[in-house]
Amino acid sequence: MRSVADHRSIVWELFGPPEAVRVAVPDALGMPTVHDTLADLAMPAFDNSAMDGYAVRAADIATATPTDPIRLPVADDIPAGRTGRVTLAPGTAARIMTGAPLPDGADAVVQVELTDGDFAVDAAAESTVGFTSAVDAGKHIRRAGSDIARGEIALPAGTVLGAAQIGLLSALGIADVEVARQLRVVVLSTGSELVEPGKPLRHGQIYESNGAMLTAAVTEAGGRARHVHFVADNVTDFLERLDEASADADLIITSGGVSAGAYEVVKDALGGTDGGVEFVKVAMQPGMPQGCGHHRDPTGRPVPIITLPGNPVSSLVSFEVFIRPPLRAAMGLPAHRPGFSARLGSDVRSPEGKRQFLRGVVVHDASDVPPVVEPIGPPGSHHLRYLAGANALIDIPAEVTSLPAGSVVDVVVL
Ligand code: AMP
Ligand code: MG
Repeated sequence: MRSVADHRSIVWELFGPPEAVRVAVPDALGMPTVHDTLADLAMPAFDNSAMDGYAVRAADIATATPTDPIRLPVADDIPAGRTGRVTLAPGTAARIMTGAPLPDGADAVVQVELTDGDFAVDAAAESTVGFTSAVDAGKHIRRAGSDIARGEIALPAGTVLGAAQIGLLSALGIADVEVARQLRVVVLSTGSELVEPGKPLRHGQIYESNGAMLTAAVTEAGGRARHVHFVADNVTDFLERLDEASADADLIITSGGVSAGAYEVVKDALGGTDGGVEFVKVAMQPGMPQGCGHHRDPTGRPVPIITLPGNPVSSLVSFEVFIRPPLRAAMGLPAHRPGFSARLGSDVRSPEGKRQFLRGVVVHDASDVPPVVEPIGPPGSHHLRYLAGANALIDIPAEVTSLPAGSVVDVVVL
């Protein structure tokens, strides 16, 4: 049997380095930038008001007090979006709204609430405004370049674009960006027992769950998943569907049909010397039967293919262990999930010679250092419910056959 580590590196070799692609900024969500992004524009680009209020020269109201207010003529009304340059004459004030450009000569904004001004009144009808206190020069002004200076690095290369980063790029006037290309991943399930969810089920049939599950896993990993309709255990049908599906794919993931039984459609179709796929047993539980290699699409282009076992828990754990890290690395994304040491909440048994990935629930308790992880569910690879209830995988080394509660183990947070 091949070790998990060896199979991991063989699968990793199927993936190439990230490729750069230019996409519209809103479409770049979740992808990492390829280059440093420089600000071509200062932000803010011009001095502007941080408040709805009155732009003044601070010296003009330096002596204002509640008992001895200073009244200034209202010389202008400046809404956000005003593009013409305005100068504030000494001894006057201008109405100004949040985000509106500060008139030349003004050096402070007094918020409307601190004046006797009234924005409900039409600007033309407001001839003067009273100030009851002085204002510090610079008050409520957002200076040009105070957020980011022109030429500064706005986002370093490798930044994964989330909502805030997409906001920043847009604010800098950037319409498209070079990011690592998302890989197009086709997910194809096999099994004559499979029925589409939502349709009636006969005795002996089960609902197809791996397809939707692995598609979600690919999407969640940052890939562009395409879920194609499952096929029955028929080599001709499988190869036909595979050829269609592989045409524009960067990676094919199949589920089922790779173990030791009869009717192992994936193995039957792709095994053999010229099949391009190597089927192996990996020393792990769940997920022992594995396969990987290349499948030629209709144009003869070799497409990496990874054939996962059909048991749902095996399928998803195999995805976690073998596919997710290199898939993410090939898209310039951090490959590994966070992992840490935890103490077992109960005793564990593990098959000799197999690395076991147990489903676990990490109990967060600040007083617990390290935290406790409680193994959940039986070892069988059909217990999807417990995988759905887990928030961690517990990694039990191959040589370990039993561990008492309290032992320190490695866990990966799902
Ligand atoms: P196989 O790997 O094809 O031998 O399947 C192993 C087990 O997983 C069997 O119990 C199958 O019925 C089940 N299984 C295979 N494919 C799927 C699937 N797409 N969705 C749910 N269960 C599956
Ligand atoms: Mg099957």
